[in-house]
Amino acid sequence: MYYIGIDVGGMSIKAGVTDKDGNVLHKTVLVTKGEYSAEYTISNDIHALIVKLLSEANIPESEIAAIGIGQAGSIDSERGIINYWNNIPMKNVHVVEELHKWHSCPVFIDNDANVAALGECVFGAAKGIRNMLLITLGTGVGSGIIIDGKIYRGEYGAGAEAGHMGIVMDGEPCTCGRRGCWEAYASVSALIRQTKAAMAAHPESSMHGIARDMGEVNGMTAFKAARGGDETALEVVKQYERYVAEGLISLQNIFRPQMFLIGGGISKEGEYLTAPLEKMVYDGMFDKETGDGIKIRSAALHNDAGILGAAALAIKSL
Ligand SMILES: [Zn+2]
Repeated sequence: MYYIGIDVGGMSIKAGVTDKDGNVLHKTVLVTKGEYSAEYTISNDIHALIVKLLSEANIPESEIAAIGIGQAGSIDSERGIINYWNNIPMKNVHVVEELHKWHSCPVFIDNDANVAALGECVFGAAKGIRNMLLITLGTGVGSGIIIDGKIYRGEYGAGAEAGHMGIVMDGEPCTCGRRGCWEAYASVSALIRQTKAAMAAHPESSMHGIARDMGEVNGMTAFKAARGGDETALEVVKQYERYVAEGLISLQNIFRPQMFLIGGGISKEGEYLTAPLEKMVYDGMFDKETGDGIKIRSAALHNDAGILGAAALAIKSL
């Protein structure tokens, strides 16, 4: 039997057929309609994509054991409902029920951050690990929490939002309306803001040349310059890592996971990012005498992370 993993993004929906070991046999993509109505919901697009995928892969639907969907936004996975999504506005979409009009196999949906964490546990860098957190550093700070091999969601699936944990009272404004959230300091958007501020104060920094060559200031600018020994960039990176570590220490003390994974484009910095984080979190953690210390690694499932996470959801939910 095979599984279908579906990764719903803002501009497109990706889907793949996998086996139980996480080999992607075929994948395809559909550009989303971009706006939906009561008559044509995102389920219609997902259905069209499933039909396209199976036809291209030449696999009959009877060989599909289950379908998993990873979707951004607030998801009620128990009832199979998208509560709301702000990216392409939608509210209260009964995805699982709607897909069952066309497809008879079990369908499961969950928040994309949760699904990504599960995917890493089943197929990726946390294979075999039962207690772990995946922290995705991007436009925001996403978090997926796996406790005893299962996704922790909180009531209505609205919990596990570590990015909105306060680290500075009355600090920087956050997209959620509060101030001082971890996301306002540790996201890549925050890193870009910190990089630009340092560049403005230090016209001699090599970050100016790097940004010119890349055509923009992005999450790599300071890291690239820091690797080259630029003093200002080293300060930016060090400060940014302190912000990331500050949140990780709290999560370490609350959850005491076996492992943290760092996801998002910045995870490509590898040990340059994770080794100092490991040291800072170890220094700040509660009861460091007990156990094996701390493990922080980069997430492993890059391009197919969404598809494999959704397939892992299908496999684990059956
Ligand atoms: Zn916030």
